[in-house]
Amino acid sequence: MKTYDAVVVGGGIIGLSCAYYLLKRGKKVSLVEKNEIGAGASGACDDMILLQSKAPGISLELAIESLEIYKNLSNDLGMDIGFHTRGGMILIDKKEHLGLMESYVDSQRKYGLDIEIIDKKQVKKKHPYVKEGIIASTFGTRDSQVDPMRVMKAFLKSNLDMGMDLYRNKNISEINKLSSWWQIRFDDGSSIETETIINAAGSWSSDIGKLVHVDIPVTPLKGQILVTEQLPSLGKENIWSSDYIVSKLKPELIEADSIDKRLGIGLAFSQTADGNYLIGSTREKGNFNKNTTYEAIETLTKQITYFFPILKKINMIRSFAGFRPLSQDGKPIICEVKENEGFFIATGHGGDGIALAPITGKLLSQLVCHEKTSMAIDELNISRFG
Ligand SMILES: Cc1cc2nc3c(=O)[nH]c(=O)nc-3n(C[C@H](O)[C@H](O)[C@H](O)COP(=O)(O)OP(=O)(O)OC[C@H]3O[C@@H](n4cnc5c(N)ncnc54)[C@H](O)[C@@H]3O)c2cc1C
Repeated sequence: MKTYDAVVVGGGIIGLSCAYYLLKRGKKVSLVEKNEIGAGASGACDDMILLQSKAPGISLELAIESLEIYKNLSNDLGMDIGFHTRGGMILIDKKEHLGLMESYVDSQRKYGLDIEIIDKKQVKKKHPYVKEGIIASTFGTRDSQVDPMRVMKAFLKSNLDMGMDLYRNKNISEINKLSSWWQIRFDDGSSIETETIINAAGSWSSDIGKLVHVDIPVTPLKGQILVTEQLPSLGKENIWSSDYIVSKLKPELIEADSIDKRLGIGLAFSQTADGNYLIGSTREKGNFNKNTTYEAIETLTKQITYFFPILKKINMIRSFAGFRPLSQDGKPIICEVKENEGFFIATGHGGDGIALAPITGKLLSQLVCHEKTSMAIDELNISRFG
């Protein structure tokens, strides 16, 4: 029977990052994936490392630290991960959003983020194709992006080069504690043993939790995205609408029974390195139905052509949906479970898992090695849910 120092469950960007940092520390690691690498949210999402959307506090601190790691990650992994810093703008088109956005920007500036409100003239200068009638916008220089598929590919290659064993298309049927070891049994009757388990199964983490009687309050938040044909750049910065922030800070300001509110849409608009634009995305609570819907496609199209009328003439080439692993309070869960020594959790990243993958892997590896973590992360412990 194969034995490991650590078995990572889940082959999304978080599991791959955790495995990478553990392997770098000389641990013997395997990764178990129920389907294929990238089958979950990490293969069906936007591509942003967005600082502006993070509330001051641990979420923003994690994002800032992660961005620093991302800057060198292509070199560290020996593969281009599509990292770019283009900056970002959150367009404000409603008077009632302006005051709220001003105080939000203020609180982030006090936290050290270089972000400001620019007027409509400056907006037009940066993004000439934005519709008339925009009141103002935020502007931040550090918002960046990566190609999540390339990040996963690069992590996977490095991990395999460092000796990681990969178990694909494997369904875990049981997890048993054997004195100080864990035994993981698969549907096909085979099993492996390990000193530690890292549950990085994204929106499915609670299923793994149930196998060891740990309640993990993480549920799927569906997001649908549209992809345009390849286009010339409309402007350097990636774009959001203030609905995206306002719906988090003051949901009552979003029209009560609008489709936008029901589908949870606040526009996100970014251009990939290949020239396609990603238009996102919905925020739908509920089930694991991966279909995209006519209603969402129509609403996203209306939103983008409202802000960029010029896009009425272009073609959409596909749509897709993914499931954000959303924790009960919207913050990640990164910890060892106190009552289950050797069982670790790295999940619940919601809409921020691409941005936070490197810092999560780094912190998790420090926890597994019983070191002081490089940031204080007590508030990310699962014990906060009682
Ligand atoms: C529409 C959309 C837009 C987004 N945009 C952004 C963005 O711009 N920036 C950002 O930072 N984040 C964004 N996110 C969020 C980001 O995609 C997620 O937070 C991140 O991908 C989560 O990674 P993960 O590895 O935890 O989960 P996943 O990628 O879902 O991986 C979990 C893996 O576990 C596997 N698994 C499940 N059950 C088992 C089992 N029993 N045994 C073994 N394996 C199992 C699954 O098959 C899957 O491969 C977006 C998400 C969506 C849906």
